[in-house]
Amino acid sequence: MKYILPLLVIVFLAFAAQPSEAVEVLHNYYSMKGDTEELAGNYPDIAIYSEHASSTGLGLEIFSVDVALNITELSEDELAALPTMYVDGVHHGNEGMSAEAAFLFLQDVLERSAADPTYLEGKRLVVTPVMNADGYLEDCRNNWNGVDLNRNYPYMWGMYGTSDTRGSCPASGTYRGPSEGSEAETQANMEMMRGMNLYVYFSGHTGSNDIVLPWKITGEFAVPIADWDLYEHFLNESTNVSGLSYRDPSGAGESIAWGYGARNAVSVIVEVDTMQWLPGVTTTIREALANELLMYDLAWENLLLFGGHLEIVSETSDSVKVINTGWGAAYNITAGNGITEKIGPGETKTIKKGSNVLQYLRLVHVGEEADLTQITMELGDVMEDDGEITPALSPLSIIFSLIAVVALRKRK
Ligand SMILES: [Zn+2]
Repeated sequence: MKYILPLLVIVFLAFAAQPSEAVEVLHNYYSMKGDTEELAGNYPDIAIYSEHASSTGLGLEIFSVDVALNITELSEDELAALPTMYVDGVHHGNEGMSAEAAFLFLQDVLERSAADPTYLEGKRLVVTPVMNADGYLEDCRNNWNGVDLNRNYPYMWGMYGTSDTRGSCPASGTYRGPSEGSEAETQANMEMMRGMNLYVYFSGHTGSNDIVLPWKITGEFAVPIADWDLYEHFLNESTNVSGLSYRDPSGAGESIAWGYGARNAVSVIVEVDTMQWLPGVTTTIREALANELLMYDLAWENLLLFGGHLEIVSETSDSVKVINTGWGAAYNITAGNGITEKIGPGETKTIKKGSNVLQYLRLVHVGEEADLTQITMELGDVMEDDGEITPALSPLSIIFSLIAVVALRKRK
């Protein structure tokens, strides 16, 4: 009898230690870098790992993975033209769960795309798990210069919620930096985004477990979001799957402000967790991030709907009937004969045709860095003898025609 209790304890411990949930630990800089490179290496046809800049102080590489179908066969221009979702993490070095979210999402998209290429078709995903490599290594919010990287971007820089005093480790400070975009990490991220046809930008953080808008839309310093209907649609869909609510940001010069303000992407911060990580919490990292990952999936799976998205219903020699299946309105629609100002989501309209090209803007906001939102669709208008029109080219933009050309070339 006296052996039974110790035996029970041993059995209990064996079960308690079972599927390693309790011992799962967060990555650090080196393991995240190694695992990210290894993950991309497992999918050579659709993923490219790259290192493209060094951190401010320790000279650590900032690394990314680029994902697209047959990616090694695409030219730089073809890759840059693909509608893109960009996910980053760890602008704040002590917010490691945001790197985990980026990594897990990357893993999911790669796995699903390998099993079913349509999951990736016509789109591009770029993931940078760690923006602030020095801070991540040192468990410090700021970069090596004491700058809060998420106050350093050149859009509304310094307008509110920032400090002019260098920060210290681990968690203090909102120092905006000596000038806008002053930091190497900020510049690296901007350079990357400039090479993308950016539809959606999620920047991962931790602390409040909610969604943060690109800039304040209420109270002092409020500026309206021109594509608010689109944002609202997305935010509602997102709440449905993740339960996360949204709020104004607490500081200006955030990466997402530049993402929407300059680069025309629907940009939000996803605060993926309320805290860093509590050792001994009996859940896996994946379980802790389950709701956020559902939201990332939602954005990826509906990427082309972020904005007006026109599809052709029917066509005659002098007109084309289109329906907007996007989550936002389409603007300045023309087929070479007058301009239709706006077609709302779900709306159907007939456009007069004066050419074989239909063009529209999928957002109303015009970014600081030129207009990036024009969609061009080819129309077909060959009149048959019986007066019937041959089917129009599929309602896809030239971007996709390009991809088709690439695919055809490959078959040779
Ligand atoms: Zn943060």
